[in-house]
Amino acid sequence: MSMEWMRSTARHFRKYYNPDVGDAVRMDTNTNVLGSNPAAMRFLESSRMDLNDYPNTYSDNLRDALADLYSLERDNFVVGAGSDEVLDVAFKTFTEWGENVIVPVPSYTLYDYFVSMNGGKAYAVDLDEDFQLDVDAMLVPDGKMIIMPSPNNPTGNSFREKDMIEILERSKGPVIIDEAYGEYAGRSMIPKVDEFKNLIVMRTFSKAYAMAGLRVGYSVSNKNISDMMNCVKIPYSLNMMSEGAAIAAVKDQDFIKRSVELVNKNRGPLVSGLKKMGFEPFPSDSNFILARSPIDHEAMAGGLKGKGILIRDFGSKRRTENCVRTTIGTKELNDLLLRKMEEVISETER
Ligand SMILES: *Cc1c(COP(=O)(O)O)cnc(C)c1O
Repeated sequence: MSMEWMRSTARHFRKYYNPDVGDAVRMDTNTNVLGSNPAAMRFLESSRMDLNDYPNTYSDNLRDALADLYSLERDNFVVGAGSDEVLDVAFKTFTEWGENVIVPVPSYTLYDYFVSMNGGKAYAVDLDEDFQLDVDAMLVPDGKMIIMPSPNNPTGNSFREKDMIEILERSKGPVIIDEAYGEYAGRSMIPKVDEFKNLIVMRTFSKAYAMAGLRVGYSVSNKNISDMMNCVKIPYSLNMMSEGAAIAAVKDQDFIKRSVELVNKNRGPLVSGLKKMGFEPFPSDSNFILARSPIDHEAMAGGLKGKGILIRDFGSKRRTENCVRTTIGTKELNDLLLRKMEEVISETER
């Protein structure tokens, strides 16, 4: 009952996005519109596991599969229950009580939570007009760590590689580049993990890999950093079902290729459709689009929800005023979305 029992740094926490989904079409979570990862599904349907065994402590088999995929080594990886766990591990490993972690605005809202939960302070630095990094502003003298998603969520754009490299070169502490949508951007900082002693790249199986429900994510860095993080991570945190499914998914790169191609094909038509209705979409390098709504953001998101489609409302936040975010769907899904948006607009104007 007593609020004072709660750790002081956590008292301002609010529960995370938890919509009443029902049977609505979900275009609010940036997951893969092709549906469940087929190789992972085949693994789950055919697996016979001894549930009485512990999984491998650090998910070595999955780390080996990832090492193969990127031509790196097992010890370059830390695997966890979603990249959210691995983000938490990074802050647990590197932030001291009260230290500043630099977070761009707007970006992923959970960073703030992970930083505060681990005793650090999230230090917000605004992105520029084009949602690109303000490099000088991010390199504050008392910043311990820096974190940024590229492509950025919720804006959708990638940051310039030269800016990220300048930050890596000038920063004295760890720099996390969260590539949750890296497969869609078609470029990555992963090849540079042995070049920079402070680079940590985050990746997830929740988006292009189409297995958010199994909660698998990983970091890629030099071995020195991975070792420190693996020492802090809760042993066995990734269950063996999820590990096996992720290994199967890594070996089916054809599905990833098809998923990325689908998004690249359908992005342009969705952008044009949105523009025609008076939306102002921002450039996207990922499988979602942020757009300023032609009508009130709550009327738009609420109206669509009433018609059975969920999108994500960012309209009350600074820098994304009156903006909503939608996943890029299949042609059918996008047509449905545009049609329902049209209805919401005409019903609101009346
Ligand atoms: C979706 C997303 C994640 C993924 O989190 P998981 O815990 O792996 O599901 C991480 N970072 C960003 C920016 C995301 O949008």
